[in-house]
Amino acid sequence: MKKTKLMKIVSDPKMISGIHNYCDKWCERCRFKTRCAVGIMDLEDKKQDSKELDLNSPEFWDKLHGIFADTFEMIGEMARKNGVDVDAPIPEEYWIQKEKRDKNAREHVCAKASWKYMEMVRKWMDGSSKDFEKKADELMKNISMGLPNKNPEKDALEIKDAVDVIIWNHTLIHVKLMRAVQQIFEDEPEILEDLPKDYDGSAKIALISIDNSIKVWETLLSHFPEKEDEILKMLSLLQKLGRRTELEFPNARSFKRPGFDE
Ligand code: SF4
Repeated sequence: MKKTKLMKIVSDPKMISGIHNYCDKWCERCRFKTRCAVGIMDLEDKKQDSKELDLNSPEFWDKLHGIFADTFEMIGEMARKNGVDVDAPIPEEYWIQKEKRDKNAREHVCAKASWKYMEMVRKWMDGSSKDFEKKADELMKNISMGLPNKNPEKDALEIKDAVDVIIWNHTLIHVKLMRAVQQIFEDEPEILEDLPKDYDGSAKIALISIDNSIKVWETLLSHFPEKEDEILKMLSLLQKLGRRTELEFPNARSFKRPGFDE
């Protein structure tokens, strides 16, 4: 995408500034897709030649390289206009402190529990392929028999949606919680003290993802009652993680996300 086009999108008054900072990045399902610069760029990308969407094609990497180069140039220009020396070297002390903060963040209870959940989901999905195949056969059989009081198409859609939501969110919860806990170990400039906290915004996304995941695990439980023990473990971990996140970030639920909470 050309820099001028990028600038045009960003400066369109319809765009909601900063909306992409506090969302789940699931643009395909987002109701603000046409009011978010990232969403518009995603739509534009979908219109491009399929070669540009193929990770194995040189066109894809050329395009990505172009987007990064344009974006860095734009950021550089804005920073210079505001008197920031973007070429100044980063002091070594910064990296030492960052390493310390990252280590503390990885040890945080929310980071550990969300990592554990992510691993559990991956293992569960890998180990459940046979159960999904069995369920698909059962639903196909029901469709062909046309049994009354059964709605196999609806069941299939429900299961697919539940799996999509779980897969999308299982990494997002960890990523957002890591971002939130990393920030609580950072020193805050005095000037920002009274402003809403970015870590509350990140924690809110994690909480919403946890809520959505709980809902769809319950749906899966109704379709796979034979997997009750495993699903209940997942639910229990998510509920504990949600409670702990609320405790660590008491203002997260009331954080106002641009667009979504206005
Ligand atoms: S706000 Fe919506 S369109 Fe924009 S990045 Fe987030 S999910 Fe995508």
